[in-house]
Amino acid sequence: MWNIKDINSKKDYVTERIKHCTDSKEKERLELSLISYLALLDNSGTLRYTGFYNAMDKITQNKFSAKREQENAQLEQDLFFKEEAFLDDDYLQFLLNVCNNIAETPYVDFDESYISPFDTDYKNILETSYGFYTDLGDQEILEQAKKVLTDESSINLAKTSRRGMTDCSGLTFNDYTFGKSYINLTKKNNIFDYQVANHEVMHGVDFYMQNKVPSENYYGFHEVPTYTIDYLFIDYLESKGMDANEVQKLRMKKDNYLQELAKLTQTQIKGALIRNKKYNNPTIEDIREILHPQLIKQLLELQSGVISYGLYNQIKIDKQQGLENLKSFMKNILPKSQTPDFSFIGLDNQTIMELSKQIGTYSMTNEASIQETQGFTR
Ligand SMILES: [Zn+2]
Repeated sequence: MWNIKDINSKKDYVTERIKHCTDSKEKERLELSLISYLALLDNSGTLRYTGFYNAMDKITQNKFSAKREQENAQLEQDLFFKEEAFLDDDYLQFLLNVCNNIAETPYVDFDESYISPFDTDYKNILETSYGFYTDLGDQEILEQAKKVLTDESSINLAKTSRRGMTDCSGLTFNDYTFGKSYINLTKKNNIFDYQVANHEVMHGVDFYMQNKVPSENYYGFHEVPTYTIDYLFIDYLESKGMDANEVQKLRMKKDNYLQELAKLTQTQIKGALIRNKKYNNPTIEDIREILHPQLIKQLLELQSGVISYGLYNQIKIDKQQGLENLKSFMKNILPKSQTPDFSFIGLDNQTIMELSKQIGTYSMTNEASIQETQGFTR
C-alpha cells in the first residue's frame, strides 16, 4: 500500500519549494511531482482521502472535487501541452495516413462483455508479472521492474478510483523529485487484471530507465514500451497455460482498441471539418485549423501502437536485438523541435507506414493457429 503519510509530507515539501523556486527546469519537476501526489491522494482509496471526497461529492454533487481539481487540471494541461512540439505538414499527413491505414484494416470484433469473469487475486496477479519480467530474460528491465514489484509502497490496490478515471483499471504516477513510480490497480475480476498490472509495472520501468520531462521530450509516445510488453505478456500467459480462448480475447482487444481509436479520430476530424464547412477536399491547413491537443495525442498514440507492434515483431524474430531496441527507445529523449524519427530502432516512417496496414492481422493470425491446435470455433 502507498504510504499516504509519506506522500502527504512530500506534497507539503514540494508545495513549499515551488513557492521559492526560480529555476524553470527544477520547477517543472516539482510541479510534475505535485500533480502526482494530488492524484495519488485522490486515488488512494483510503477513507481519509478517496472515501472522504467521494462522500463530499455525494453531498455537493461533485462541486467539492470539481473546485479542487480545476486548479490542478490547468497546471497539468500547461505542463504537458503549453510548449507545442514540432508538427509540420509532412508529419501531420503521415499521422493521418497511419490513422487511415489502421481504420481500413479488417475489423476485429471485440466487446468487454466477451471476457469471462473469474475471481482474480492480487498476490497471484503480481507474482505472474514478476514471473513475466524474470522470464523476459533482460537483467536491466528486470531490475527496474523489481523496483515496483518488490516495493509495497509503490503499489496501491484500490476499490475506488477518481478524477474521472473510474474506467481505468490501472494508473501510474511518477514522482520526478524523489524518483519514484507509483501504480494503482482496481481489479475487475477477469484475465484483463493480469495485463493491466503488468502494463503499469512497465510504465514504472520506462520511468526508471530514463525520466522524460514534457518540456524536453516529445510527449505522446509513453505507451510504446507498455504496448510492446502487452503483446509479449499475452504470449507469456498462453505459454503458462492460461485458458487459450481468454488469451485470444486479449489479442482481439488490442487490435480492436487501435482500430476503434483510429475510427474515433477520423470521425472527430470529419465532424470538426463539417462544423468549419471545410469538408469537401480539406487541405492540410483545414485539418491543422481543427487540431487540438487531444486529437494530436490520439494520432501519436496510433503511431505508438504501430511502433509497439513493430518492436514486438522484432523481439519475436531476434529477442536480444528487439529488447535492445526497446531499451534504446526508453532511454532516448525525443527532441520536441523535429519530427520524431525512430530509425534508430529500425522503424523508419516507411516501415511504420507498412506496419500500420497489418494491425488486425495480429489477432487473426493467432486465432488461426489456435483453431488448428485446439479446434477452436466461434
Ligand atoms: Zn498505459
